[in-house]
Amino acid sequence: MSRVLALKYRPKRFSDLIGQESVSQTLSLGLKTEKLSHAYLFSGLRGSGKTSTARIFAKALVCENTPVAEPCGVCAGCMSAEEGRHLDIIEMDAASNRGIDDIRQLIESTKYKPSVAKHKIYIIDEVHMLSTPAFNALLKTLEEPPSYVKFILATTDPIKLPPTILSRTIHFRFKKIGQSDVVEHLKHILGKEGIAFEEEALEFIARNGSGSLRDTLTLLDQAIVFSKGFVSSVSVVELLGAVNPDKIKELFSFVLDKDRERALLLVKEFEEYEAENVINEIIEFLKASIGKKNKNIPLFVLERFFRIAVNAKELLFMGADGGFVITLTLLKMIEALEIEDIDSLIAKYESEVDFTQVPSRDIVRDKVLMEQDKEPVKSVNTKSQWDKLVEALYERSHEVGSVFENNITFVSFDNSVLTWSSSAEGEKYELLKKYYSQIKHIVQDIYGISTTIAVQKDTNKSEDANIPVVSAKEESTNNAAMAVHRSDSDDNSEENEYMQSGPGLFGDKEDMNDGEPNSLEAEAEELSLLRHPLVEKTKEVFGVGDSNISIFQKV
Ligand SMILES: [Zn+2]
Repeated sequence: MSRVLALKYRPKRFSDLIGQESVSQTLSLGLKTEKLSHAYLFSGLRGSGKTSTARIFAKALVCENTPVAEPCGVCAGCMSAEEGRHLDIIEMDAASNRGIDDIRQLIESTKYKPSVAKHKIYIIDEVHMLSTPAFNALLKTLEEPPSYVKFILATTDPIKLPPTILSRTIHFRFKKIGQSDVVEHLKHILGKEGIAFEEEALEFIARNGSGSLRDTLTLLDQAIVFSKGFVSSVSVVELLGAVNPDKIKELFSFVLDKDRERALLLVKEFEEYEAENVINEIIEFLKASIGKKNKNIPLFVLERFFRIAVNAKELLFMGADGGFVITLTLLKMIEALEIEDIDSLIAKYESEVDFTQVPSRDIVRDKVLMEQDKEPVKSVNTKSQWDKLVEALYERSHEVGSVFENNITFVSFDNSVLTWSSSAEGEKYELLKKYYSQIKHIVQDIYGISTTIAVQKDTNKSEDANIPVVSAKEESTNNAAMAVHRSDSDDNSEENEYMQSGPGLFGDKEDMNDGEPNSLEAEAEELSLLRHPLVEKTKEVFGVGDSNISIFQKV
């Protein structure tokens, strides 16, 4: 191999250009139809083929067979252009000739007609490097050059160009050459050179060339020399001092097995590499996994892994210790898999749940009441609790305590229902009604937050003996515990009116709005939600009970 590959395989025709089909087709068509602009701007990444394209375009313009879609490559014009000695093709590197004098000299030379060809072509590379006076000097000529002059400006940084330059040129944007295009090109070259290779090795080289064909070919040159005629992935990895992709594969097998120990052991082996390279290789592995539809890693896990890897790069950018970042990255990935378990569990349960079997509120309410019947809450120390209640009411207000003690009698406390009978009438009734909300709070402090109050009219003191004695155990929906809270009762008997005078015996509308569960309907709705099959499964999965679940209303 006498010449370096980049030179030997420099594209000579538009059809040789890699990955820039749309640009080359447009230029080729313009040449063929002689619809040409006087100034072109080629922008794109390093090594994306801007200069090569400019040279092919210039060659086609000086080709003796013009107009041609492709330079013929055999005429004297093409030959001298290829050898870089055509008098009418002038190349200038603006990076090293950026001053006003350089541009003045160039403008001066445009005044002389082409020596041999129809056109005189100026290729200005890295044009964004020109100084502002140089740009200004160039502008006028760019706008109205002599008819035979063509400008081809090339830049990696078109944003740095003044808008006046952009508006006076036809702009071609060169895209980054796709990796698969690069690999194909490398294969083509190695085939022509008769050199054996492993495809993985070429992918590795292409990746490290970062989309620049020139850099990639330079790497390939080195790889051929280094690997002594067989371009294998092992030799390429060694040459580039890169992380062996096999190690990354191994690492991910540990991660996917959630084998923290072995994964962290492998991290030690990565210490000799730049942490950023390791993370880059991890990202490459993840990318490849998407392409291969790796069944081991579901897409949403891959997405999480990507986020973690990108986050790792940010940490490195901020100067975090490399070994620490890699360790953290792996542990986070393993943790991300734990989350996957929960996701898949939910998905599994969702598929198992029969949504047609979601019970209605009424059924749930009845069922819950029945369950409560089976296991009645023990009425522990009801007497001393009652004493406490009376005492607490006295503390709050002597008057309330006194009226309460003299008019209210404890009946029972069962299933979180505190039943009392009341003989309060007139002012006393009004007083208790006024303080109902506070009384209820104190009741719930002492008897438990879920306690509801049921009230019986004191039959001893009342003339009406027909009011039923109420027990929460009674299945009837007319039992006092419910009647007290029912707002939709259609029974208009006196007794019920009496019961309905408030949320308890004494309540009024304002008391109702203090944020407590204020109707049986709402409670039933909550219960219905808590008994929803999906919620039941969630409770099972997380090992929690109803008391751990809060229900919020979406406003
Ligand atoms: Zn020719």
